[in-house]
Amino acid sequence: SDSHFPIPTSPAHVDFSLHFPKFVEAENKISKKVEFADIGCGFGGLLISLATLFPDTLMIGMELRDKVTEYVKERILALRRTSSDGQYENISVVRTNSMKYIPNYFEKGQLSKMFFLFPDPHFKEKNHRRRVISTHLLDEYAYVLRAGGIIYTITDVEELGEWMKACLEKHPMFESLTQEELDSDPVVELLCSATEEGQKVARNGGQTFRAVFRRIAYVS
Ligand code: SAM
Repeated sequence: SDSHFPIPTSPAHVDFSLHFPKFVEAENKISKKVEFADIGCGFGGLLISLATLFPDTLMIGMELRDKVTEYVKERILALRRTSSDGQYENISVVRTNSMKYIPNYFEKGQLSKMFFLFPDPHFKEKNHRRRVISTHLLDEYAYVLRAGGIIYTITDVEELGEWMKACLEKHPMFESLTQEELDSDPVVELLCSATEEGQKVARNGGQTFRAVFRRIAYVS
C-alpha cells in the first residue's frame, strides 16, 4: 500500500540529488529540474531510449510496483556502470502512485513531456475512474506541464485509445498535434518500439491507438 513508500509533501521536498548524482553541484543542489515523466514506466525501456536521445534532459519513471521499480533502478545503474561516456545519468525511477501524487513531485509548468504508454485498461465501467487519463487527472497534468509541453498516450486496447483521445479532445488545455508535427517528432516512433509492452504488441502483430496532444498556453 501507499504507506510503504515515501511521499514528498511538495515538489520543494523532492530530493532528486541521489537519483542524478552527476548533475549535483555545490551545496548538494541539483543543476536541473526533471522535465520528462514516464507514468507507469514498467520495465523502463522508453527511459533508456530517451536517455541517449536527450542526454541533457532529466527524466523520471513513476511506477507503482515495488519489484518492477527495483528492477528499473538496477537496470539503470548497470547501464551507467558499463557506459564508457557517462550515459544514462539523466534517467531514474521512483516508486509512487501517479494517480495520487503527481502534484507532490512536480511544480507548475515543470514538465515538457509526459508519457502514458500502454496503461492498464480497466475495462469495466465501474473501474473507469481508475484509468490514468481522465478529465480530472488531465487538470493535474495540464498544471505540471508547461505551455507547449506534450502528452503522449498509446494503447493496444481500442476502447481505451478512444477514451484517452476523447478526454484530451474535450479538455480545454490540450490540442492535438498535426500529422506534420507527429512525423517530425523523433519521440513518436519510440512509443511502440522502445517500451516492453509496445514490443510485445508488435511481436503479436497487434494494432495500436495513439493520442499525442500539446498543452496550450491559454484558453481563448
Ligand atoms: N509503460 C510500460 C510499457 O509500455 O512497457 C508499462 C506498461 S504496463 C501495462 C502498466 C504499468 O503501469 C505497470 O507497470 C503498472 O504497475 C503501472 N501502474 C499502474 N497504475 C499505476 C499508478 N497508479 N502509478 C504508477 N504506476 C502505475
